Amino acid sequence: MSDSQQKLIEQAAAWVLESRSTVCLTGAGISTESGIPDFRSKGGIWDRFDPKDFEIRRWLASEDIQRRYWEVAQDGYDLVRNATPSKGHFALAQLSLHGYLKLLVTQNTDGLHQKAGHDPDKIVELHGTSHVCVCVGCGSKLLRSEVHARVQGGEVIPKCEDCGCLLKPDAVFFGEGLSPEKLSRAVEASKEAGVFLVAGSSLAVRPAGGLPERARRAGARLIIVNEGPTRFDARADMRIQGKTGDVLPALVDVVLT
Ligand code: NAD
Repeated sequence: MSDSQQKLIEQAAAWVLESRSTVCLTGAGISTESGIPDFRSKGGIWDRFDPKDFEIRRWLASEDIQRRYWEVAQDGYDLVRNATPSKGHFALAQLSLHGYLKLLVTQNTDGLHQKAGHDPDKIVELHGTSHVCVCVGCGSKLLRSEVHARVQGGEVIPKCEDCGCLLKPDAVFFGEGLSPEKLSRAVEASKEAGVFLVAGSSLAVRPAGGLPERARRAGARLIIVNEGPTRFDARADMRIQGKTGDVLPALVDVVLT
């Protein structure tokens, strides 16, 4: 950790300590150190897959895309379910446990915040979860691990056993609406935040990427911890360039001492 980074961390910790309420938004960047690639970095998911295949209308309309999805998802889901949380996930769980983090809003669907011991009641999974599947017809839900086992057992495109419609992961695809309840909880907390912390997100995806702006307009200090550039760098009160696995534990150490 450089001297200038340490100075920024101390200032950020002071803001968290004096804030009436801190809200954190995480993105795929916090999970890269757990071995799960993000979308936009070099070697990320978009280097290997066409984002259009994750548009819900295209996905629903094409058996070919569904077949490819479930084939690729076999490895993808194994990677996610075997991943262990990063130092960044653990640091945020500690911050929450000690009462310094009011709400964690995550764009991630990997469940690693919960695996790190973060209280699930203090997490909003804005883009849903990869650990559950939902029937697009009747809405019934079942564990992803059960669907995964069926695909591994030879079911090419898994269907609902109740109504015969398609199953999809309970994660938001492009073109799908977000849960209004989750979005409204995230927006309200952002508007009340004294500090809004972004960790590991390019902020390119809306509406999640618009939360920092809402928080700032309502008076929050905006701190961005990210390796690459983000859409809001110019408007942040503080930008700490670095790995979430280095910066967040250092920040939480200062807050808790
Ligand atoms: P993104 O790929 O657009 O941005 C990730 C950002 O994290 C990049 O700017 C990158 O520079 C930064 N980064 C990568 N590793 C980092 C590290 N160790 N420390 C600090 N910064 C790091 O991802 P996004 O903003 O979350 O938005 C894209 C969408 O990706 C979201 O909708 C999310 O649902 C989905 N997604 C989720 C997962 C997951 O659940 N783990 C994985 C891939 C994509």
